[in-house]
Amino acid sequence: MLGSHINFSLRSYATKLNHHQKLLMARSLPKKETLFGVKDIIVVASGKGGVGKSTIAANFACTLARLGKRVGLLDGDIFGPSIPLLMNIQSEPLLNDKNLMIPPENYNVKCLSMGMLTPLDGSIIWRGPLVMSAIQRLLKGTDWGLLDILVIDTPPGTGDVHLSLNQHVPVTGVILVSTPHTASIQVTIRGAKMYEKMNVPIFGVVENMRYSICENCKSRIEFFKKDVSMESLPLKLISIPLDAHIADCSEAGVPMVVKYPNSEYANQFKRLAKEICSLIEKK
Ligand code: ADP
Repeated sequence: MLGSHINFSLRSYATKLNHHQKLLMARSLPKKETLFGVKDIIVVASGKGGVGKSTIAANFACTLARLGKRVGLLDGDIFGPSIPLLMNIQSEPLLNDKNLMIPPENYNVKCLSMGMLTPLDGSIIWRGPLVMSAIQRLLKGTDWGLLDILVIDTPPGTGDVHLSLNQHVPVTGVILVSTPHTASIQVTIRGAKMYEKMNVPIFGVVENMRYSICENCKSRIEFFKKDVSMESLPLKLISIPLDAHIADCSEAGVPMVVKYPNSEYANQFKRLAKEICSLIEKK
């Protein structure tokens, strides 16, 4: 008798708590606001770092620009920004008369990154809320002009930046980047689940560095056993090989699709960009 009474009290307490939590969350959730002048926002995300996410984001943005789109590229990786290097931008953003940042431009892509605002030898030691406000400032404190697509390169993992981005602006869809090793695939699946929960469409996965092409005989060299599969991931969009030219291009600050516009890789990126544009048009 006493047991069932305790159970009942616990259940009603849990219901009240649940209700209270929902109210609190609803109260603290910021309202999503469209970015003035920006039609679509595409997030590029990965589970692990070092899988080529920023390289893919930069090449994707440049390909969109080469297809005639008005494009922006925001580096959402506050602690490890790489867009200034990949896009060869050394200048700081200027401010317009409304105190909004004007993103520097290269290869017809407007770029903005925390790396443009902090000295190379300066370290950034911030806690979550400051990071969130930095992301918001980069997003909303910027005069993006008129953009068809803003590509956002996010930090690896499924942290606050991803949640916060989706709470503040309408994200059209996400492209996931993964290498075929199990550790990366597992966290990428987790990332996909997180985006699903937030009702953000997942366009698919760009697979990076599964294979290489021999310079001499042009044969394909596989780095991963066939059984390391990406089947549990969303649709594979393209597969980019490990290639010294890609690494050289990143170091030189000229994305592969700009330096070698007629290469097989540039064609793959063109296919990817066209596919994403047609998915956006259907939405
Ligand atoms: P992430 O954003 O996932 O941390 P990056 O895009 O910064 O990874 O890439 C890490 C390094 O790997 C860079 O030096 C980049 O040039 C190199 N890289 C990425 N993809 C390839 C590739 N397919 N072939 C050769 N080097 C690559």
